[in-house]
Amino acid sequence: MGLGLLEARVNDAVSTISTTPALTLDGLVKSFGNTKAVRSVSIDLAPGELLAILGPSGCGKSTLLRLIAGLERPDAGRVLLGERDVTGRPAHRRRIALVPQEGALFPHLTVAQNVAFGLPGAARLFGLHRAGERREVRRLLDLLHIADLADRMPAEISGGQAQRVALARALACDPELVLLDEPFSALDASLRHSVRTDIRATLRELGVAAIVVTHDQEEALSLADRVAVMQAGRIVQVGTPDEVYRSPVDSGIAEFVGHAVVLPGLCVAGCVSSCLGDIAVDALDGAGSVMVRPEQILVLPPTPGLPSGQVEQVTFFGHDADVHVRLDSGELVVARIQGDLPRGRVSLQVRGSGCFYPAA
Ligand code: ATP
Repeated sequence: MGLGLLEARVNDAVSTISTTPALTLDGLVKSFGNTKAVRSVSIDLAPGELLAILGPSGCGKSTLLRLIAGLERPDAGRVLLGERDVTGRPAHRRRIALVPQEGALFPHLTVAQNVAFGLPGAARLFGLHRAGERREVRRLLDLLHIADLADRMPAEISGGQAQRVALARALACDPELVLLDEPFSALDASLRHSVRTDIRATLRELGVAAIVVTHDQEEALSLADRVAVMQAGRIVQVGTPDEVYRSPVDSGIAEFVGHAVVLPGLCVAGCVSSCLGDIAVDALDGAGSVMVRPEQILVLPPTPGLPSGQVEQVTFFGHDADVHVRLDSGELVVARIQGDLPRGRVSLQVRGSGCFYPAA
């Protein structure tokens, strides 16, 4: 074989490897009686990608995870792992690890034994009594910063530590895909941050694709490479966290993915006239509503020519504050600011562009 042909084959092979998704969902449908829990969901996951599925309670997130894991059979559609169609395979033959909400550790096994239990086949059976000495177990415990807990029982560790152990056990079976179902919901805010950071770093280090299901927008935006917003059984928007936050496809998603100020307005030549003045948008002419984020609204001393009003309430969070301003035109607008807390009379100015949603 000539060198040129060999090179071409190697390039072909490399591009096949890099373009085959880790997971493909193709038109998945699942109903329970009259409840349509999942309605034709299709999405790809790149190798090593972390996808967050974000949606309100009851929108079908857990059902979708269970379909991927093989714990439910779809009414229609396919699940592919790499190029393999696994739709008809039982859960234990999919190389997919599911980390449930509460971690669900075995209470009678130590931390190291819990992790060793995730090891495949014989390694698990022969490994339990000397679990803490196993290289794979120690590596996972190290990666998740819980090496010093190896000999403790689950009842002797905190909720955040238990979540790390649950992930280590899931990763021990060398899965192609990890599914995390609301993994941080039982943790308090400060613990959530550190567990989230470690879990993300560990998945990155091991290059495993993962899906995390959550109803917490901050969690989804801060954790994932891409966010899929789910509503009533459908994925209604997929994008990077930045895209989904800055350009939500409708005002409902805007209000779900963070705080939003949504105002009626008329769009003419890329500019919406609203009670907050003129706001630049990328949209066609017509009536509808314009959305800006509260942090885009500057609160200034009273300034002629700018919309003005009275501060009605200030909610202080430490790093920033919400300022509720009743405009002279009657609307109540919430701006998010940092620095000195304003009182009395103020003017408002929108910084940057907004999103425009034409009236239906
Ligand atoms: P949450 O965030 O509250 O866990 P979710 O987005 O994960 O909600 P699912 O648990 O997937 O939502 O439920 C989607 C819909 O399907 C809901 O209306 C739920 O009541 C229904 N459902 C889920 N599992 C079953 C089941 N086994 N039998 C009947 N209905 C079900």
